[in-house]
Amino acid sequence: MHNLKMKNLCVEIDGKKILNNFSLEVNSGEIHTIMGPNGTGKSTLSHVIMGDKRYKLKKGEIIFDGKNINDLTTDQRARLGLFLGFQMPTAIEGVTNADFLRTAKHIKEENNFNLMHMIKDINKSCQELKMDKEMIHRSINSGFSGGERKKNEILQMKILKPNMIILDEIDSGLDVDSLKIVGENVMDYYKNSDSGIILITHYQRLLDYIKPDFVHIMMNGNIIKSGNHTLVDEIEKKGYAKILEEISQNEVKE
Ligand code: ADP
Ligand code: MG
Repeated sequence: MHNLKMKNLCVEIDGKKILNNFSLEVNSGEIHTIMGPNGTGKSTLSHVIMGDKRYKLKKGEIIFDGKNINDLTTDQRARLGLFLGFQMPTAIEGVTNADFLRTAKHIKEENNFNLMHMIKDINKSCQELKMDKEMIHRSINSGFSGGERKKNEILQMKILKPNMIILDEIDSGLDVDSLKIVGENVMDYYKNSDSGIILITHYQRLLDYIKPDFVHIMMNGNIIKSGNHTLVDEIEKKGYAKILEEISQNEVKE
């Protein structure tokens, strides 16, 4: 059982306030979707959870499995089992996928690391993701299409076996077939592990495969409304601006 708590996070970048008293708690066995318009701080949230030092955490606490991780480095957080699938995965020339996965896995598993197991796992995972095995020996994301990069993020997830997974617009850049493959692979991993997921998206399509238990609407750096999957339909029908308007009107009435 794992638990990630974000308590009253206030985050700035270049003196600009992005997250505004953001709070959310995620347990393993739960899928939380965060939806919201562009520029509202969704990616910022994911970077802050992973400890990207460019984002200044002015106030608040990030607690993972009962421990405050505010001051941990990104690799320390990754070792605890936090994982971020990037919205825009970058290419890293000169480091092959295989080298990267082996190094990361070895550091994480220490004495339990087994190279043969990992190679088998990579082969199996590539098949499941319908990825060309040759990609394993290429530099990370070098010459990869947008969709291939996204699949590569999911490959890393499948190999590193995290227990708290943040997927930032994993659906962008994917064609319909790849979307299905990625969605099914994420669900398969989730069902067979003790993990929780924060799924950031602004399209409904991915939710056909990855069914959220909780849906949160994020605007201006905070969650303005939470609900179950029916909230997704409400967003489709009304749009974010209308929902925000209704909430402010209700607040005036009260
Ligand atoms: P979302 O993912 O919801 O679209 P982001 O978290 O990417 O939103 O961005 C939120 C705001 O923070 C935007 O106004 C964006 O321009 C700003 N921002 C994010 N990252 C940076 C950065 N590295 N430097 C400057 N501004 C940034
Ligand atoms: Mg984003």
